[in-house]
Amino acid sequence: MSTEEIKKLQAERDRTQAELKRLRSYLEAEVERITESGEDSVDAAADIYEREKTLAIIQTLERKLAAIERALRAAEKGGYGICEICGEPIDPARLAAMPHTTTCIKCQEKLERTQHRKPSLFPPPRRTEST
Ligand SMILES: [Zn+2]
Repeated sequence: MSTEEIKKLQAERDRTQAELKRLRSYLEAEVERITESGEDSVDAAADIYEREKTLAIIQTLERKLAAIERALRAAEKGGYGICEICGEPIDPARLAAMPHTTTCIKCQEKLERTQHRKPSLFPPPRRTEST
């Protein structure tokens, strides 16, 4: 990974951090405003929707920031561009499009499949034998 690429990644990290900070203070201000005014129910529904949207963006940015930081750490160790799961080199085109990625496309797809699958933590209830 070249110094220029690292700089690009660092700039992306700074941008993401700034955006996160902005959204968090926006959310805080919103919560304060609502607490102070004791909002009525019609506005509340719209406000909740807006807040959930903002929260979702914050979560996405947090994940992105974590990925950028992982990629930067990998770069420090000279392992940038290597999939952290299978250890294979990541497709350069994928890296160009998403410089903060730390997994190859195959592992990413596998990860997404497992994330979308509902965890079966709760097995179906066993039928009790009634006598
Ligand atoms: Zn992989």
